Amino acid sequence: MDTKQTLAEISGQVAVCTRCQLHYSRKKSVPGEGPFDAEVMLIGEGPGFYENEQGRPFVGAAGKFLDELLEKGGVKRELVFITNVVKCRPPGNRDPLPEELSSCNDYLDRQIEAISPKVIVTLGRYSMGKFMPNAKISEVHGQPAWIKGRLIIPMYHPAAALHQPSLKTTLERDFSRLTDFIKQAKQQTQPKSVVQTPPPAPAEMKTLEKPSEPKNDPPTQLSLF
Ligand code: URA
Repeated sequence: MDTKQTLAEISGQVAVCTRCQLHYSRKKSVPGEGPFDAEVMLIGEGPGFYENEQGRPFVGAAGKFLDELLEKGGVKRELVFITNVVKCRPPGNRDPLPEELSSCNDYLDRQIEAISPKVIVTLGRYSMGKFMPNAKISEVHGQPAWIKGRLIIPMYHPAAALHQPSLKTTLERDFSRLTDFIKQAKQQTQPKSVVQTPPPAPAEMKTLEKPSEPKNDPPTQLSLF
C-alpha cells in the first residue's frame, strides 16, 4: 500500500472509530490534512469547536494564529501535514485524557510512519509529551532535538498565546527559526535508533553537529545543538 492509500485508510478508520468515548460527541473526526509526502508535520492537541464542525485541523482562532506564525516563519501551510494527538474533539475543549491519547496513538504513529517527515513540530504539552515525556515546555520550547531520526521541535500551542498574550512574542520568535531548522534537518539525517534529549537550557541556535555513532541502543545521547 502506498502512502496516499495508507493515509486514506487511516482517515476512514478514524471516521468510524469507537476506541474511546470521544466518538459519542463527535460531529466530524479530524484525521489531519496535508501532502502525503510532507517533509514537515505539525501535531496539535485535538479538534476544537470549528474543527469538529468542518473535519479539518486548525480552522478556528488558534488556526488563524498558526497560519500567521507559519507565514512569518516562512513555511507554507499547504506544504505541511497538520494533525493532532487526538482526532475527535474533547467536549468543551478540555485536555485529552490518558485513555483517549493512548486509544488514538496508533493512528498518529501510522501517519508518522507513512509520511516519514524529517521534521515534526509539536504544538503544546500533549503533543510534546509523545516524544519528550519528561520535558517541560517552558524549558524546551523552540529547541529542536533529534529523536529516532526525526528533528522534533517543541513549540507552545498557538491557543496558549490567545489566553496568555505574553506567549505571543515567544511563539513568534520560536517560529521565526523554523525555516532554518528545517534547512538544517534536510542537510543532516540521524540514525532512526538514536534518541537525543533536548538541550537543558535555552540557547542560540547553533549549527547541527555531525552525528556520532550510537554506542548503546536504545537510547543514546548525542551531540547537542
Ligand atoms: N487546537 C488543536 O490542537 N488542534 C486543532 O486542530 C485545533 C485547535
